[in-house]
Amino acid sequence: MIDVRGRIVVPGFVDTHHHQFETALRAQLADGLLIDDGSGSPSADPNYAEEVLGRFAPAYRPEDVYVNELFAGLSQLDAGVTTVHDISQIHHSPEHSDAAVQALFDTGRRAAFGFFEGDGRPGARYPEDARRLRDQWFSSEDQLVTMVMGGELHLGRQVYTRSWATARELGLRISAHSVGAFGQRAVHDAIARGAGGVRVGPDNLFIHMTGMSDLTWQRFHDAGAQVSLAFPIEMSMRHGTPPILKVQQLGMEPSLSSDVETTMSADPFTLMRSAFTLQRMLVNEQVLAQEEPGSANPYPVPAEGSPHLLTVRDVLRFATANGAAHLGLGSRTGTLSPGKQADIVVLDATALNVAPLNNVPGAVVTLMDRTNVETVIVAGTVRKWRGRLLQADPVRLRQALEDSRDHLFDAVGVPRRLFPHG
Ligand SMILES: [Zn+2]
Repeated sequence: MIDVRGRIVVPGFVDTHHHQFETALRAQLADGLLIDDGSGSPSADPNYAEEVLGRFAPAYRPEDVYVNELFAGLSQLDAGVTTVHDISQIHHSPEHSDAAVQALFDTGRRAAFGFFEGDGRPGARYPEDARRLRDQWFSSEDQLVTMVMGGELHLGRQVYTRSWATARELGLRISAHSVGAFGQRAVHDAIARGAGGVRVGPDNLFIHMTGMSDLTWQRFHDAGAQVSLAFPIEMSMRHGTPPILKVQQLGMEPSLSSDVETTMSADPFTLMRSAFTLQRMLVNEQVLAQEEPGSANPYPVPAEGSPHLLTVRDVLRFATANGAAHLGLGSRTGTLSPGKQADIVVLDATALNVAPLNNVPGAVVTLMDRTNVETVIVAGTVRKWRGRLLQADPVRLRQALEDSRDHLFDAVGVPRRLFPHG
C-alpha cells in the first residue's frame, strides 16, 4: 500500500527512440546540427554526423557501450521513463551488441532493444546476428526487454531488404530514421510507389518523418505504419519542422522520442512541452494569419479545417499509451488499466513548482519536471522510492562513465573543453 495523497499517479512514460550509448557525450553537441551545412559556424563544426557517428562511435569498446547504456537507462528511470526503445547504432561486433542488451536487462526497466548497424568493421554481423540475439536473449515472451529490428533505409537496398526480411522472419518490429534533410526522401518515395523492394506494414515505426512527400505519408499511413517524433531534436538540429500537422491531418498520432543527449535532455517533460508548444505555435500562427485585411477583429475565429490545438491530455497520451502501442507493448503498459503490468509513476503535486493543484493533466504537462518524480514502479517492482533510485550506485557508475568519457576523448583526439567556442 502506497500513500499517494497530494500525488498524481500516471502510467510510466515511454520513449520510442533514444540513443543510449551516447551518454558519455552529453551536451558535447549542444549547438550541433545534424550535418555540416558548410557555414563554418559553431553549429556546423562539430556536427552530429561527423563528430558522433564518424569519430566517437567507432572508438566505443563493449565496456563503454555497457556503462553508457546503463547510465542512460537509470537516468531515465529516475525521470519516470519506464519504457525505452534504445536505438544504439553501436553494433560493431556481437560483443558490442551483447553489452548493450546486458545493460538494458541490468537497468531493470522495460526496453525494446533496437538492433541497428554499427560502423561496419570486419567482424560486424549486422543484420545477420539478429537471429543469434533473438535466440540468446529474447526467447522468452515474459521479460522486460524485447527486441526491435533496425531497418535503416540509407544503408542501401541490399542491406535494408535483408534486415526487413530478417525482422519479419523472426516476428520483430522494424524501425528506421526518416529524414529528408539526410537525403532519404527518394528511397521513401520508391518504397511508397512499391518500387523499393520492401513492403511497409503495421510493424513499421518511422522516426522523424521530416521532409517526406505527401505520397509517402499517405502510403505509410494506409499501411498502418507508426511515427515517432523527437520534437526538440528535430527543431534544434535541422532535421526539419516536426511534421505534427501532417500527422494530425492524416488522423494519426505520434509517440515521443528523446533521440540524443549529445544535444538535449531525455526527460519526458521536455518532450511533452516541446510537442505542446511547437504544435500550438504552428496552429496559432495559421489562425492569426487568417485575419481579414481591414478587419476590426485581430483574433480570428479559426477557419473551417484548421488543425485542432493539442491539449495537455493529447501530449500525455503521446508520451504514454502511444509509445507503448508503437513498440508493440500496448497490452503490457502505457495506461493504468487492469490486466496490464504495473508501470507506474507517482508525481508530487505538493511541491513548490506545482501547488496548488487545480488541473491534473495540466500540472503534469505544463508545470512538472523530473524533480517531481517521486516513486517509479516497473512491472510491480519499486525502482525509485520517495525520490531515491533503488538498486543502483550512481556515484560508482558516474566514475565508470567518466572513465569511459576519458577513453573516448583520448581515443579520437578531441580535446575536452568545458567552454567550447569561447
Ligand atoms: Zn535517432
